[in-house]
Amino acid sequence: MNYDVILIRYGELALKGRNRDQFEDTLMRNVRNVLEVHPSVEVYRRYGRMYVQLNGENPYEVMEKLQAVFGITSISPTIQVEQTEEAIKEGTLRLVQSLTPAPRTFRVDTRRADKRYPMPSMDVNRMVGTHLLRNIEGLKVDLHQPEASVKIEIRTEGTFISSETLPCAGGLPVGASGKVLLLLSGGIDSPVAGWMTMKRGVRLEAIHFHSYPYTSERALEKVKDLAQKLTKWGGSVRLHTVPFTVIQEAIREHCPEEYNITIMRRFMMRIAEKVAQKRKALALATGESLGQVASQTLESMYTINHVVKIPILRPLVAMDKSEITDIARNIDTFDLSILPYEDCCTIFTPKNPATRPRVELAERYEQKLDVEALVNDAVARTELEEITAKPRDVVTDLF
Ligand code: ATP
Ligand code: MG
Repeated sequence: MNYDVILIRYGELALKGRNRDQFEDTLMRNVRNVLEVHPSVEVYRRYGRMYVQLNGENPYEVMEKLQAVFGITSISPTIQVEQTEEAIKEGTLRLVQSLTPAPRTFRVDTRRADKRYPMPSMDVNRMVGTHLLRNIEGLKVDLHQPEASVKIEIRTEGTFISSETLPCAGGLPVGASGKVLLLLSGGIDSPVAGWMTMKRGVRLEAIHFHSYPYTSERALEKVKDLAQKLTKWGGSVRLHTVPFTVIQEAIREHCPEEYNITIMRRFMMRIAEKVAQKRKALALATGESLGQVASQTLESMYTINHVVKIPILRPLVAMDKSEITDIARNIDTFDLSILPYEDCCTIFTPKNPATRPRVELAERYEQKLDVEALVNDAVARTELEEITAKPRDVVTDLF
């Protein structure tokens, strides 16, 4: 079908005043950004609706991109007609005739938002219904379970006819809620945590700790690939990569084995907090979920959290593993996440990690280390890369 305009509906009805303006401005900017590759489209908004005028661009490609824009609740491809009886009848007939498979039953719903249009919406329904029945053989009206549900919107900015509404991602437009630094590992959970954080309007940066040469270049590439998957939902992602080997070796040498993971995580938090401050991110986010693995106990979270002041968002804390993997599949990170490359944590994992680590003990063991110097050195050697949606050069096997 040669659609003219994609109609965009957005939610969060609770938003008022300035928040609403900011929501709309940010959403419009994000819609324009994802449609950059379709130079002919025009994006505009009127009275709480947003429109993408296609000007010949492929409606299905445009709609697929819009479905990854947070803040949009649903979209409909429409044809736009003049505000006259003839044009409305002709447009509706053309739309219904184009549907495949051809519907056997239909209903028409008109909304007359522009009250200057003289005919009441019930009369428009009847007029258009009669026109369809006369022109399409075998077609019947079914008000309860129609195969085609035709919607006509008569608005000041135009008259739009559609028969389809596609659900979208919901949430808030990325950028409306400030910035968060995501601790991104190569696992299943943290990319999902990043996606959920973005869904609430957050712009993400990511930080990854690697232990070259214990971990390979491939493991790092996998993390970059995961970050790239997230760009579909929120634009480019700045990825900070932290060399973690020196710290891990120091911990292994000077601290009791069962506290290795706890102390390692405390270092991650300290480093992440410093990077967040530099980048003006107001929170960290992790993929932790209570009770999922032995180290994710409340005692462990407490002891790890103790070294930083910055809030830590844990969007997966209330979710089951199956719910998390469902999302990972939907956002297309699952297959990457299960690739079997080693992670910095798995390499230094002790046989019997403390499942209820205590702050006082962690602090006592860390006295053997020059914590501040180690943290500052790691921050200084942190590298920054902007991950964009464009395909990257693939490093096949460097090491
Ligand atoms: P994931 O599936 O995200 O790897 P996990 O179930 O393996 O999580 P842990 O290994 O306990 O759980 O890690 C908990 C969280 O700590 C991760 O979700 C991630 O946010 C962070 N994290 C772990 N390892 C790293 C790393 N190498 N770099 C950055 N963040 C990390
Ligand atoms: Mg992991």
